[in-house]
Amino acid sequence: MSEKILIIEDEASLARFIELELTFEGYSVTICNDGREGYERFNKEEFDLVLLDLMLPSLNGMEICRRIRRVSNVPIIMLTAKDEIMDKVAGLDSGANDYMTKPFAIEELLARMRVAFRKVKKTNSKENDIVSFMDISIDTRKMLAKVGKTPVDLTKKEYELLLYLAKNKNTVLTREQIFNGVWGYDYLGGSNIVDVYVRYLRTKIDEKFGKKYIYTARGTGYFVKDEE
Ligand code: CA
Repeated sequence: MSEKILIIEDEASLARFIELELTFEGYSVTICNDGREGYERFNKEEFDLVLLDLMLPSLNGMEICRRIRRVSNVPIIMLTAKDEIMDKVAGLDSGANDYMTKPFAIEELLARMRVAFRKVKKTNSKENDIVSFMDISIDTRKMLAKVGKTPVDLTKKEYELLLYLAKNKNTVLTREQIFNGVWGYDYLGGSNIVDVYVRYLRTKIDEKFGKKYIYTARGTGYFVKDEE
């Protein structure tokens, strides 16, 4: 099956040009010309690599990159105009795997994509895509949580909360830590939302599967741990 590439780039002619070249190389390509739309598309479908422009309408590339990294290890290559080169460090800090300065030769992009895919295969083989505790496993590529072999139907925020707890397992997390890690600047309400979502998760997991998964640290916050 061909790898699925998401291009988020507002320069329509450039996006189209890359699409043609990548399609010719056998990739399956989706284009979004708007930042927010691109981010939403990423959340809806499964992609193997994201080509992400930096300056985009409605949501910039750096922010999209950060948000994607909260939930996924998908390779991200940032595309940026020449005069934006100062942002290189920030781009890599936000979790991008690589960086291309426009204009670039398409061969160069194809080569970097192959490198990104190879790295994914090497460092990110199955185990790295899966975050787990007890008998819960979270596939960060498919964005799917399972209890044993049973998939759990979670909303996006429930999934992100569970993943955040799992990534920090065996550590007591304060409400504020959880709030910043999962909601951050997406949400203007208070950290009480954490309690609300922990309750949702407990309904869907602890109660449904009849086991204690999410622990309360009295007066502090919440945690999950490896063993029962
Ligand atoms: Ca742009």
